Amino acid sequence: MNNIQIGILGYGNLGRGVELAISQQPDMELTAIFTRRNPAEIQPSLSGVPIYNVKDVLNFKNSIDVMILCGGSSTDLDSQSPAFASHFNIVDSFDTHPEIPRHFKSVNTSALLTNHTAIVSAGWDPGLFSINRLLAESILPLGHSYTFWGKGVSQGHSDALRRIEGVANAIQYTIPLESAMEAVRRGDGPAFTPRQMHTRECYVALLPDADPDTVRDQIVHMPSYFADYDTTVHFVSQEELQENHYAMPHGGFIQRSGTTGSDQENCHIYEFSLKLDSNPQFTANVLACYARSAYRLAAEGSYGAKTVLEIPPAYLSSRSIEQLRAEIL
Ligand code: NAP
Repeated sequence: MNNIQIGILGYGNLGRGVELAISQQPDMELTAIFTRRNPAEIQPSLSGVPIYNVKDVLNFKNSIDVMILCGGSSTDLDSQSPAFASHFNIVDSFDTHPEIPRHFKSVNTSALLTNHTAIVSAGWDPGLFSINRLLAESILPLGHSYTFWGKGVSQGHSDALRRIEGVANAIQYTIPLESAMEAVRRGDGPAFTPRQMHTRECYVALLPDADPDTVRDQIVHMPSYFADYDTTVHFVSQEELQENHYAMPHGGFIQRSGTTGSDQENCHIYEFSLKLDSNPQFTANVLACYARSAYRLAAEGSYGAKTVLEIPPAYLSSRSIEQLRAEIL
């Protein structure tokens, strides 16, 4: 069987992670990377992988099986995902949770018109955490669910900071509040607002002449990203950002406590957690598996947009279903 031919659109942290992720998969090959920038100025992490400007992408319509979109959720994927789903099977990691239904609808329309498969909002959250939320809530219908993130760098939030006028570079840490986590562990079943569960800490390097007060104001009032949290903004130099904030750890846990029994006398805790040294590299590995599922779904004529909740787990594996039944089940 031929290897699955993969393209990467967008060569930032996630794009570099996907390049490495494909090299770990036995049945995949990286055909090319596409960028909106001048390819001559970009150095691929692995030698021998061609980089093209995105204007050349349609020349690869027949040679790429799945395009993995690695643009940012705040401004890139809104337009890139529906546009690319007209020409390719795609996977994206769109992570602005409240906007997912709208994003799904626009990508679905585009993919169905041209018989392509488009997996949207893959990754770990949305992604693996979403699957575990679904499992826990289905299995324990009486109970309370919680998701805590961090402490870690949120790429989506960092990306949103970097798009603000006057910002040269920035990193955002999501920090869970210990007091909230302790209340959950005691089985109190507390009700939290977003502000009571996490704080957000931003390290921002400004361009010369940028006004710190204007930038801070835009950050703390940004809807969907910062407005619902206590957000601290630290202005630092580019050098300090590079020296002290270059790593991209992340993780978190989803937890559901639920009860069973005639008097709800038995309590059960369902917990799934991740501790990631590199958020983009782990996310990239998830996207590579969903690219395999996009390839299989397209091959069986299952077109349109899908999310991780709709895809059989066996479609993620390079092993056959017979092997999985014998070796994993
Ligand atoms: P990033 O590094 O900022 O890259 C985003 C895009 O910006 C790239 O595709 C690239 O496009 C462009 N870019 C990168 N470096 C650049 C530079 N030096 N100068 C100019 N443009 C540059 O963002 P990221 O860390 O890869 O994250 C991408 C998205 O992944 C996030 O926005 C987030 O939504 C998503 N994500 C999702 C999950 C999940 O669990 N679902 C987890 C982590 C991240 P071009 O090459 O075309 O210029």
